[in-house]
Amino acid sequence: MAFNLNSLVKGNILKLAPYSSARDEFSGDAKVFLDANENSFGSPLNRNYNRYPDPHQKQLKKKLATIKNVEADQIFLGNGSDECIDLLYRCFCKSGVDNVIICPPTYGMYEVSANINEVDLKRVDLDENFQLRLAEIENAIDSNTKLIWICSPNNPSGNLLNEADIKTLISKFSGIVVVDEAYIDFTDSVSFNQYLSQYPNLVVMQTFSKAWGLAGLRLGMAFASTEIIAIMDKVKPPYNINQVTQELALQALENENQMLEMQTEIVTLRQSLAETLLQLPMVDTVYPSDANFLLVKVKDPAGLYQFLIDKGLVVRDRHKVILCDGCLRITIGTLSENEELINLMHEASI
Ligand SMILES: *Cc1c(COP(=O)(O)O)cnc(C)c1O
Repeated sequence: MAFNLNSLVKGNILKLAPYSSARDEFSGDAKVFLDANENSFGSPLNRNYNRYPDPHQKQLKKKLATIKNVEADQIFLGNGSDECIDLLYRCFCKSGVDNVIICPPTYGMYEVSANINEVDLKRVDLDENFQLRLAEIENAIDSNTKLIWICSPNNPSGNLLNEADIKTLISKFSGIVVVDEAYIDFTDSVSFNQYLSQYPNLVVMQTFSKAWGLAGLRLGMAFASTEIIAIMDKVKPPYNINQVTQELALQALENENQMLEMQTEIVTLRQSLAETLLQLPMVDTVYPSDANFLLVKVKDPAGLYQFLIDKGLVVRDRHKVILCDGCLRITIGTLSENEELINLMHEASI
């Protein structure tokens, strides 16, 4: 089916004249700024944050573009991926009319954001290997289906989804396929970013919250055609990425090697933790992981979860989630944190 972006965007968004900020109307090199009602004296801090930040995050996007091998105008930056998710609903989904498809078990925000935006949600569960069921997804698509959410590597199962399946879906669907790659840095696989020029209906999401170790800053990325990015830009709050985040993210990007070292260490520890866990009698399965966590099936998930909490160690209880019977989701910690987990699990089985 043919992809037509303008017919996909909500009418009010297509017509929207965006807010024009002071920093939009003047972006040259003036000496005196009396245009934005800022406090010209400074801030009650060691550093000044009295000026509004760049609404287009130009410096940050320029640096990111080289690292991610995309054009700067193919990048959208959000206050966490969560803002990107919400914006996609607000740009494309009419409340009470349109619908989206998710593939459980998967990231919870796709559903919460659908509920907030009053958008109908269709669920097509993954198969027993946590892979897409393509025929069922195609059956679920109707003329009001605007978005399909794909999470790869998937949270909470941890595995990459079959790349050929995702491509088939993108080719056949006339709406937008969002591929959430929050955990892509922990895999050997390349990003779907490389297919942006091939697929006008592809949105790729990544984040600074995982491999980059910057969850506290709240910075998420979306990559797509310049046309889709322009629509998201129109709808976002003008100053959605604050000055501190822009400065620190730029600094972090200059230290990419440090991120790569952590990433390598996490992947190594993932392997050793998986092997150690498998030797425990209470552990039934450790699912293969392409992420920075393990989905672990244990004999008494609720009991173990509570035991660990009582000892001050918290993991994520997923045992009530579909296809995750008996499962806890465990983030890879430092070497000593992982050892503490194993020691407590030994203790729990006595
Ligand atoms: C952690 C995670 C994110 C990151 O969300 P942020 O809002 O950027 O912190 C996005 N998607 C998935 C599937 C995740 O697990």
